[in-house]
Amino acid sequence: MPIPVVDKEKCIGCGTCVALCPEVFDLDSEGKSYVKNPEGKCDNLKEVVESCPAGAISLK
Ligand code: SF4
Repeated sequence: MPIPVVDKEKCIGCGTCVALCPEVFDLDSEGKSYVKNPEGKCDNLKEVVESCPAGAISLK
């Protein structure tokens, strides 16, 4: 399974990734996304990567 990684420098805090996969992503106290559980349920990580308007999510 690919592991998602968020580049906080690029994240604009739109919340799309959290809305799509709330078990995997969350927003921190600064409103930036982080991976709270890389193994959380997420139907389509690739879609989340493609939906991020800032290109801040990658898979490794
Ligand atoms: Fe940040 Fe991208 Fe998630 Fe929006 S979708 S909160 S820009 S990582």
